[in-house]
Amino acid sequence: MVCKVAIDLALDRLFTYSVPGDMEKKLAIGQLLSVPFGRRTAQGFVLELAGDEAAGDLAGKLKPVDRILDEVPFFSPALLELARRLAAYIAAPIESVLKAAVPAAVLKPGARPKELLFIAPALATGEVKITARQQWIYDQIVRLGGGWMNQLCAELDTTPATLKLMGQKGLLQIAPRQKFRSPLMHKRILPSKPLSLNPEQQRALNRVFAPAKKPLLLHGITGSGKTEVYLQAIAHVLALGQGAIVMVPEIALTPQTVQRFASRFGDKVAVLHSALSDGERYDEWHRIRSGKARVVVGPRSAVFAPVGKLGLIVVDEEHEQSYKQEDNPRYHARDAAVLRGSIEGAKVVLGSATPSLESYRNALTGKYDYVELSGRAGPGTLPQVTRIDLNVREDGEQGGSIYSRELLEAVRDRLNRGEQTILFLNRRGFSRSVTCEDCGGTVDCDKCDLPYTYHRADECLRCHLCGKWIPVPQTCPHCGSARITYKGIGTQRAEAALSKCFPKARILRMDADSTSRKNSHDDILGAFRRHEADILLGTQMIAKGLDFPNVTLVGVLNADQSLNMPDFRAAERTFQLLAQVSGRAGRAELPGEVIVQTRNPNHPAVKAACFSDFKSFAREELKTREEEGLPPYTHLSVVHLKSQDRELAERWAACYAEALAKALKTSSVSEAMPSAIERTDGWYRYQITVSGPSISPLIAAWKWIQSVRPAPKALKTALDVDAYNLI
Ligand code: ADP
Ligand code: ZN
Ligand code: ZN
Repeated sequence: MVCKVAIDLALDRLFTYSVPGDMEKKLAIGQLLSVPFGRRTAQGFVLELAGDEAAGDLAGKLKPVDRILDEVPFFSPALLELARRLAAYIAAPIESVLKAAVPAAVLKPGARPKELLFIAPALATGEVKITARQQWIYDQIVRLGGGWMNQLCAELDTTPATLKLMGQKGLLQIAPRQKFRSPLMHKRILPSKPLSLNPEQQRALNRVFAPAKKPLLLHGITGSGKTEVYLQAIAHVLALGQGAIVMVPEIALTPQTVQRFASRFGDKVAVLHSALSDGERYDEWHRIRSGKARVVVGPRSAVFAPVGKLGLIVVDEEHEQSYKQEDNPRYHARDAAVLRGSIEGAKVVLGSATPSLESYRNALTGKYDYVELSGRAGPGTLPQVTRIDLNVREDGEQGGSIYSRELLEAVRDRLNRGEQTILFLNRRGFSRSVTCEDCGGTVDCDKCDLPYTYHRADECLRCHLCGKWIPVPQTCPHCGSARITYKGIGTQRAEAALSKCFPKARILRMDADSTSRKNSHDDILGAFRRHEADILLGTQMIAKGLDFPNVTLVGVLNADQSLNMPDFRAAERTFQLLAQVSGRAGRAELPGEVIVQTRNPNHPAVKAACFSDFKSFAREELKTREEEGLPPYTHLSVVHLKSQDRELAERWAACYAEALAKALKTSSVSEAMPSAIERTDGWYRYQITVSGPSISPLIAAWKWIQSVRPAPKALKTALDVDAYNLI
């Protein structure tokens, strides 16, 4: 027998080994093996088994498999199928997808679940002679119900020798047992009971289990009770003996989120996220694979969790861009979830207050099922939202160019009433486009209608859709003003201006600088929750998942910053951001108010967000996308190239762009262009944008071009299929 093994070398090929006779019975697809590779050994997953004849002439020359590292397969046939199809879709080697699917901690050689000695009181039979001290220890162990050897020795101030002696006398049972290190182990978690659902929630829950096998888009405003629907849907699949995966964006994977699932399902819940120690991650993963944990909560990579008999996958905040992995393998976890659901026959629920236009269009075309939650389930009402037009402000107002009079008054009001304020400063897209300080307009590509991206290195503006470039203009093309700039407002400047207006207010600032220390993120939020500050001023870090009952005012300082981002998804992101930020106000008994400062008060994204009107925003934006030939009506992908040799990178980028343009008849291919951050760590980066009705011609052309004109070693290339980052 021979087997084909995927070894993590990103070579996009499998390696064939012979199987020693005594191994044939034990070997199974999906297992992790140790195999000889060159002069060393390597780890790899078995993907195919076949008879000798499959190896052809090589049969006699194959090296044998070294050994099976774990007899329990790491991948079920269904998970391998997922990896295969995902790899094919994103044109990535399957081994890179397999690697992303298993936490590194699990694959570390020597990592094994800890086996420790566990001690339990035995039913003492007959009369045993023991000392008073031993009797006391025995009583304590009975009281505790048992414990780990090292732990009991410390707590009862005794030694392993004493306990073992008591074991020999039949007083104690001592046996090795697997000790799982769980991130929830030391937390006291109060159990929660299912709430009785309101009619909208009930309808949504029914739709989760409707006979239709399609994914369900659950569109519900912040606080509409989506999470409660997920919880009850999970309870339902657990009752059927099935498992569930809940995906949440990493940034929303807070202790509060995890707690809600752990409160309902106890130790059936496993958590996978980047803040775990290697040991915790190893053990959580094994709890899942062994079937002890049936509900997995985690970010992107949780889509690969080895849950058996999968009944449900929930993707919460499905619109979040963090579901797209931005390095290899560049998969989208939402798409992967939909794929896995269809392979395993599991229901997929995509939840969001602001669905991605990709998913929403799928709902409109009937590819997805759709259900809506329109009201808040718990306490609180939707806040009142006011737009302040920054164009009509007078110079010299208090607060400088950052704060409008209306916003300052509203803040003063809250200070007087002892209520709290969140001020939100959008820094996304900062310094990526050029805007006019007078009219707020951007400099746009005349062909693509998209703001140019500012390139500092050569002081020019480039369109990232078509590749066209112009020198940075001296004056604004809309109003002629010379005050055009690529600088946004910084948080520190905003903080300084604020303390000048309110010298006595207690202000907390939260941005990349103030949170670089570990835990400072939680410290700042904790302090704000305990009302140790009146105002929290921060970047998009504060937009998500936070719930502060005493916050009655949310101010958005510059809604335009994200609107002006040189990305065709700028309007969609702005809508999402504003809707999310507004969701922060008025979540408890106190009514909330939101003030949005903008130079574009009538922009559809700003207007619709202020009226919480997703549908009319989506309708208009989809129309624009269709007219412009942009996703979700086309597939837009980016080819990345980098080299430490600038000239080489530039030459090859141009050569590949030309070859792609020639090979692809139905797609449009941009010129090769330097990336916005042209150089990182000594690598010069170039890119080519390709958009077209389908992906497969691009992948075929790209593979063919690379085979006839293979890139030199000094050039690294990557294809980002369905790219979300064009900069
Ligand atoms: P979402 O996930 O849509 O933001 P949540 O599930 O977090 O909404 O619900 C918001 C609040 O409403 C929570 O405090 C939750 O406990 C409460 N809630 C949800 N469903 C109900 C219900 N059926 N009855 C009472 N309160 C509910
Ligand atoms: Zn202008
Ligand atoms: Zn253009």
